[in-house]
Amino acid sequence: MSFQGKTAVVTGGSRGIGRAIVQELARQGCNVAFTYRSNEEAAQSLVSECEALGVRVQAFNMDAADFEAAQTFIKDVKTQFGGIHFLVNNAGITRDKLILMMKEDDWDAVLDTNLKSVFNLSKAVAAILVRQKQGGSILNISSISGVVGMPGQTNYSASKAGMIGFTKALAKELASRDITVNALALGMIETDMTGALDAEYRAKVTEQIPLKRFGKVTEIARITAFLLSPDAAYITGQVIQADGGLAM
Ligand code: NDP
Repeated sequence: MSFQGKTAVVTGGSRGIGRAIVQELARQGCNVAFTYRSNEEAAQSLVSECEALGVRVQAFNMDAADFEAAQTFIKDVKTQFGGIHFLVNNAGITRDKLILMMKEDDWDAVLDTNLKSVFNLSKAVAAILVRQKQGGSILNISSISGVVGMPGQTNYSASKAGMIGFTKALAKELASRDITVNALALGMIETDMTGALDAEYRAKVTEQIPLKRFGKVTEIARITAFLLSPDAAYITGQVIQADGGLAM
């Protein structure tokens, strides 16, 4: 129970990968403060489910792209939970279009939600981790789209590649304080995000994945828990691909 008495912040925890991460951390004894944007019902059902495990889990309706809201949210979590030890920057959206069709708003929304949010939350949490002097860990949920680039995703690929550069720079800034910063570059994982893909595209991609299947959110949640745990204390500044071998 390496997470006993510790607190994690997870952005975008109400659904998909974020939800599975909240469940796994709670299962391992961690208190969790998570954010969501619109789905209040999903957020509250997760709180009830996790509280039955005997840990403190709270949902916050917060736009991770909003700098001021993020600073206030982290201050509130620190006050209410007593400390913060881990941050998982998971909130993300897609607005896929070829560049000729992409509107300025498609670019701004994806960059703000996926990348600016990482700055907003990491800045606020890093200040607390440094003052606490107990180490800590930040994990950024990136994508192989940011590693190899995907057509129709110039906005998304740029945001996810940006997260990778951010991860390496911040890892170097915080290493002397015993704070690790890593990125998970995911392939195709079963969530609402990939549920929107049409059947033909899905079959084509599955064929290209060496393991011949999409990943499960529970698999990603367990990798996340490992990367935040003391067992991964000597891993920092790394981009770990969990993609069934798709982007080798
Ligand atoms: P989902 O669409 O299933 O869930 C997204 C979550 O993010 C929801 O909880 C949503 O809240 C929340 N969210 C969205 N915008 C904001 C915001 N501005 N502020 C706070 N929370 C927000 O996504 P996935 O679980 O599929 O993806 C999670 C992460 O993993 C993303 O960063 C994504 O880019 C990345 N990823 C996913 C892959 C996949 O195959 N699924 C592949 C590679 C990377 P609400 O429910 O309230 O809207």
